[in-house]
Amino acid sequence: MQKIIAINAGSSSLKFKLFEMPEEKVIAKGLFDRIGLDEGKIKISYDNKESFEKKEHIENHSIAVKRLLDLLLNLDIIKSYAEIAGVGHRVVAGGAFFKKSVVVNTKVMRQINELAEYAPIHNPANLMGIKAFRKALPDAISVAVFDTSFHQTIPKTNFLFSVPYEWYHNYGVRRYGAHGTSHRYVAKVAAQMMKKPLAELKIITCHLGAGASICAIKNSKSFDTSMGFTPLTGITMGTRSGDTDVAMISFMMQKLKMHSMPEIIYDLNKKSGLLGISGISSDMRDIEEKKKTSERAQLAEDIFVKDVVKYIGAYTAEMGGLDAIVFTAGIGENSAQIRKLVMKRLSYMGIMIDEERNNQRGKAEFVSTPNSKVDVLMIPTDEELMIARDVQVLASQNEDIHSKNYVV
Ligand code: ADP
Repeated sequence: MQKIIAINAGSSSLKFKLFEMPEEKVIAKGLFDRIGLDEGKIKISYDNKESFEKKEHIENHSIAVKRLLDLLLNLDIIKSYAEIAGVGHRVVAGGAFFKKSVVVNTKVMRQINELAEYAPIHNPANLMGIKAFRKALPDAISVAVFDTSFHQTIPKTNFLFSVPYEWYHNYGVRRYGAHGTSHRYVAKVAAQMMKKPLAELKIITCHLGAGASICAIKNSKSFDTSMGFTPLTGITMGTRSGDTDVAMISFMMQKLKMHSMPEIIYDLNKKSGLLGISGISSDMRDIEEKKKTSERAQLAEDIFVKDVVKYIGAYTAEMGGLDAIVFTAGIGENSAQIRKLVMKRLSYMGIMIDEERNNQRGKAEFVSTPNSKVDVLMIPTDEELMIARDVQVLASQNEDIHSKNYVV
């Protein structure tokens, strides 16, 4: 029995989940928010019912980590630091360096730093989290789990953009994708629920949250995915545009009298998607509530559903068939309405919805009928659990963590 902590460090936040492994029991979880700002916020829940909340200044990530570990001790969640055998860190960009999760050493940290040009906000923040934990818990194994690594199996025909080849060859411009840990987790659960080996299945996983991506998984490997060089492309998202025509950018920069690319990229990242179309909200709950009275809210929902349907059709054709569709993340897990609208549009594939099951929430479930030609499942994602599992596998292989580069 050992404790493993999964960490998601952002530029001003640090989220954690502490697991007892191999039982996979969550013993505490929480958030340090507004790090480096005037008033920070700490929230920790534990023991299923207890919670600790406090507002206080949190100077930097190192202080946040020190404070977190002390609180785990003071709240009697752990008896000593030594109980934490491993720390798993979510890292956004793994580029072409990382095809799997790895034990962190100085070389890995250098590579994560080099990859910051692909994820300028996220990778440096992830690295701050890694460094802070290595300092506070020098004896615990430290593992990096990359959002992109699952997609490293995508074949060249699917990851290359049709741009000058040198852009890829010289500068690494290609599809890297994202949400890999989530797609990997739900595909595995889907195969278990279907009682079939993942290696024999063609699955499309739809991670539909504020950020959203779709992944074609063939014979247990990522075969194609909707996010690209950055998370801006693919389907319509909460505030991101998804696929657009890049030539529109220079046209709109002139019209809007913008002087720099970051200005318009900001609009495509933050003012587009459901928010841009509806003019009301980036949140699907608001869109569903307002669509009766707002034509643009209805349009936002229609476009979102159309995008999901379009990618499912394209990926089914690319894979030459389809065994299952999985819905996950905020919208995929909670919106019976969106699942229903997508499934109705796919009735041509022989997909049949089980209305009663589709209206349930909270637990993994088939939402298609037993005679549906393609299984459709709703599976709550658990990226932190996947991270903790990777740490456990690497910890069990690990003899000399600082000199070798083990992979899961
Ligand atoms: P992310 O991790 O990308 O920030 P989440 O996976 O937490 O996002 O998803 C958040 C989104 O899920 C919200 O913006 C909202 O659109 C959607 N959502 C959450 N609950 C519901 C619900 N009951 N009905 C419809 N959409 C929901």
